[in-house]
Amino acid sequence: MGREIPKEIIERVKKLREEIDYHNYRYYILNAPVISDAEYDALMRELKELEAKYPELITPDSPTQRVGFKPQEGFKEVSHAEPMLSLDDAMNEDEVFEFDKRVKKFLGLPEDAEIEYTVEPKIDGLAVEIIYENGLLVLGSTRGDGYVGEDVTANIKTIKTIPLRLRRFTEDAPEIPRRIDVRGEVYMTKEEFKRLNEERIQKGEMPFANPRNAAAGSLRQLDPSITAKRKLDVFFYGVGKVEGYEFKTQWEILQTFPKWGLKINPLAKLVKNIKEAIHYHHELEEKRESLDYEIDGIVIKVNRLDYWAKLGTKARSPRYAIAYKFKPTQATTQILDIVVQVGRTGAVTPVAILKPVQIGGVTVERATLHNEDFIKNLDIRIGDWVLVQRAGDVIPEIVMPIKEKRTGKEKEFKFPTHCPICGSKLIKKPGEAVWRCPNKNCFAQLVRKILHFASRNAMNIEGLGEKVARDLVDKGMVQNVADLYYLKVPDFLKLPGFAYKKAKNLYDAIQKSKRTTLGRFLYALGIRHVGEAMAQLLAERFRSLEKLSQASIQDLMSIPGIGYEVAKSIVDFFKNEENQKVIERLLKAGITFENEEKEKPKEAKLKGLTFVFTGALKTMTREEAKRKVIELGGRATDSVSRNVDYVVVGEKPGSKLKKARALGIKTITEEEFLKLIED
Ligand code: NAD
Repeated sequence: MGREIPKEIIERVKKLREEIDYHNYRYYILNAPVISDAEYDALMRELKELEAKYPELITPDSPTQRVGFKPQEGFKEVSHAEPMLSLDDAMNEDEVFEFDKRVKKFLGLPEDAEIEYTVEPKIDGLAVEIIYENGLLVLGSTRGDGYVGEDVTANIKTIKTIPLRLRRFTEDAPEIPRRIDVRGEVYMTKEEFKRLNEERIQKGEMPFANPRNAAAGSLRQLDPSITAKRKLDVFFYGVGKVEGYEFKTQWEILQTFPKWGLKINPLAKLVKNIKEAIHYHHELEEKRESLDYEIDGIVIKVNRLDYWAKLGTKARSPRYAIAYKFKPTQATTQILDIVVQVGRTGAVTPVAILKPVQIGGVTVERATLHNEDFIKNLDIRIGDWVLVQRAGDVIPEIVMPIKEKRTGKEKEFKFPTHCPICGSKLIKKPGEAVWRCPNKNCFAQLVRKILHFASRNAMNIEGLGEKVARDLVDKGMVQNVADLYYLKVPDFLKLPGFAYKKAKNLYDAIQKSKRTTLGRFLYALGIRHVGEAMAQLLAERFRSLEKLSQASIQDLMSIPGIGYEVAKSIVDFFKNEENQKVIERLLKAGITFENEEKEKPKEAKLKGLTFVFTGALKTMTREEAKRKVIELGGRATDSVSRNVDYVVVGEKPGSKLKKARALGIKTITEEEFLKLIED
């Protein structure tokens, strides 16, 4: 009597099969997946696990029982003499050790026996089988569903590294067999893949998600002249049916192929045991970026072919081999917003702010959108689901939007016409895709803004000096001062010269700066014409950021010491949407102002008196002197007029002294000024 299987399980299994079938179709037939391989693998794993738990649910048409997809219409069908299977995969060392254990158990060998394996890069391309009869290429086919593939002979023949005739190229080469079905991976180099995708994007077509889809899309063309234009290449790694020769080991196959003119991957190796295989995996993962073709793991194969026969195969994969995958490099997520970033050279790059997503153990929150044309050609919108890629140390990038997932709520992105840092009108040279800020000083301006923001009399962030500010901007980690408060310790570790302690100190200093005064904060914002003294005055008068941000030019000008220019600059600053966003994010990050009472002047000793400073002071900076005046209830301005009571004259005074004399205003020395404020 069968056991009762929970209804949810039956439903889930059904749902998973439908989904996997759909993704197989998109991947194998259209070469246009809409989820990443890692996400697909997760679905497949879940289904396999449920089927293992409830074997009654397994059906012959379950995707776990089948390989690939049946041939596409338009191609002639080809039956493989020996099935072309898929491979089981292992995601971690434990699963690889399990595999080794299973092999030994199946072969009846003791647990501590050592099995010899071949290890080969797992090329991200598509499997093909080529039949050579008496050395002559007679038929080339794709894997298809493993039993029946597509006849792509004409297309295969356009690949220059695939020999049309096998020959004995060395003295020790064995005789060419009567018939040999050789198997290999047709792939596209990263460079060609990039070129092809750029061309497609230019034409407004969707790019290929990965080199494998690109290779498959290029080989499975009804018109071989299209295949011929795409630079495809091949690595051979195995055989199907062979007549007139008997290989003893996988290593022998790999050693013999080149002697017949069949290209193999030069990184393939023979190892003594499973530990060496695992070591090879780590070594190759390090090298992965530097190879000019994409690999997504290694294939570990039992070396002895007599063992293969004993081990046999399961429905969709052999028991003698396993694919040990690398960390995934792609994932799908949603674009929450698009912002632009100005680089050291003035290049303005659009950046997608993403719903955080894990890629190969790293959380990705932003990814480059390259340039305006990329967004336009692919019609990428805010709210879109996208395929994101993060390979090695390269900046994460958006590969393409997944339009199938649109709800209609997505918003188009309008590329700014002006630089978000300095406000200059952006320019684009004819024939270039990149908008640039023409202001040579722009990058430096952002760096300066950050330095000003962090400076002692502003937010007072210790450890944020020029070098750090430059690196933060250069790496795109900070595009406005608010970004500082959203960086975590691991982010700082990305900066040159940062180890944990330094990163933690900077993080702590930034967090500490959140508790400040309104005056310091206003000064830190770097509003034009608002120096320390003016910021202090504004803080005293308005007592609240909100009130100040809503003040009109008239409101401001009614305050003694604030003229039209200053008032306008303040109003413009708060009207600017970018500034509003930055302030909002700063406050959201938790910036608070100390009790407003403290902003009040301590004593009103200088009440009603207006000061102007000219020349350099010895004991303090002019800004400090102005702050002192304000603290004591006086006013400090920069221009000499009849309303001014004292002109404080430092070393090398300028035209202000002349004007003061002309107007008959009292001039005092620095010493006299100090006395005035001390008494
Ligand atoms: P597979 O790619 O995991 O493994 C089998 C294949 O490995 C072989 O057919 C062969 O083509 C290839 N291979 C490369 N180098 C090899 C070597 N040295 N020796 C032997 N074989 C080698 O299995 P699969 O069934 O072809 O495809 C599954 C893959 O496709 C998974 O990575 C999966 O994530 C992806 N996929 C993704 C989607 C999606 O929607 N994103 C859909 C379907 C499949």
